[in-house]
Amino acid sequence: MQSNEPRLRLRVTTTAEWVLRSGHPWLFGDSIHEQNRPGQLGELAVIYDRQDNFLAIGLYDPESPLRVRILHRGKPQPINAAWWQGRLKEAIHRRDRLFDDQNTGYRWIHGESDGWPGLVLDRYGTTLVLKLYTAAWLPRLNEIVGIITEQLSPERLVLRLSRNIQRGANKRFSRADGEILFGPNLEGPVIFLESGLRFEADVLRGQKTGFFLDQRENRRTVESLARGRTMLNAFSFSGGFSVYAARGGAKSVTDLDISSHALAGARRNFELNSANPGVVHCRHETLQADAFDWLKRNAQPRFDLIILDPPTLARKESERAGAIQAYGRLVRHGIACLREDGILVASSCSAHVSAAEFFEVVRQTARASGRKVTELRTTGHALDHPATFREAHYLKCIYLLF
Ligand code: SAH
Repeated sequence: MQSNEPRLRLRVTTTAEWVLRSGHPWLFGDSIHEQNRPGQLGELAVIYDRQDNFLAIGLYDPESPLRVRILHRGKPQPINAAWWQGRLKEAIHRRDRLFDDQNTGYRWIHGESDGWPGLVLDRYGTTLVLKLYTAAWLPRLNEIVGIITEQLSPERLVLRLSRNIQRGANKRFSRADGEILFGPNLEGPVIFLESGLRFEADVLRGQKTGFFLDQRENRRTVESLARGRTMLNAFSFSGGFSVYAARGGAKSVTDLDISSHALAGARRNFELNSANPGVVHCRHETLQADAFDWLKRNAQPRFDLIILDPPTLARKESERAGAIQAYGRLVRHGIACLREDGILVASSCSAHVSAAEFFEVVRQTARASGRKVTELRTTGHALDHPATFREAHYLKCIYLLF
């Protein structure tokens, strides 16, 4: 990334200056009003304020409306190998005491909120998964891989690319989603421990990096609520909530998902924990169907614990209102399937729907059911997913007793 060109220097609008000073990590292209030359993908852009003082430095992406992802603000600092090493150490240190040896699957780096904008690093046993959400990392991938492998000594490091950058990564950098960056090849999923339970993660092809680590704390809570209950896990994916509920003493668990692949994973995850007495005694069923449809058609109170954890329902701002309505419908149908003294756990991972909006539509729908309802708890994501700015608070969850 060496070049003889002068440093890329930017000046931004007053509003953007204020936003960056407040610690927000994104600078959009339409907030830039002066630039000394065109910038290249992944190069460092220095942002100056109106007094010509250093404001921040970040990764430049000429093709994205999100033009600069901030790495550092405050006093100027050289961004070199030692700086990257220090940044990784900080992220690792933040998780030092969060996990014991019964947990070998968790997040080491959570993007912007750990100072690594658009980059995620997850651990599954001895395999690490590096997921990139911006092409701006691609030109310095070798350097980053060197720092990660040196500091964390994994057996293997897998590269995952968000869908929007896969083509460019392939054409311009010969990088592919699911590529092994370091260590031996991999056939099939890897096994890891979460709260002492065994799970598989399809790190090469699975959603996110292979598992929904962000729901760990909610899974633990569900385990504590499950004793003696008949549970429906709608949008179950690989049955994460279900295996916990089984260990917690659930009478039976039904996994409902549209994907047969996800349900096959759920069956294997039950199998992986067959030594656990709770898991052995819990009846496990899988149902492949559209959950919206299935809940609507089966509106009889027959469950006493229901999890609703759909995929994001708003991919962009314009889909926000529709998503809120869809959450309302889902919760209404869910309540209709709940027995008396039943618990509904409703979750949203749509970043465009705020926590306040989501909780409000769930509460309103619960009130409209005419049933007596007690709100038990609202939560967000797990502790290894820190959230330091508004858009990072994507996961919200609410527990209601009927
Ligand atoms: N609760 C899971 C994560 C859910 S991810 C966990 O904790 O691991 C969302 C899941 O919803 C995916 O498995 C996807 O296959 C499924 N899905 C998407 N649309 C669906 C629909 N209309 N009906 C049922 N499942 C759906």
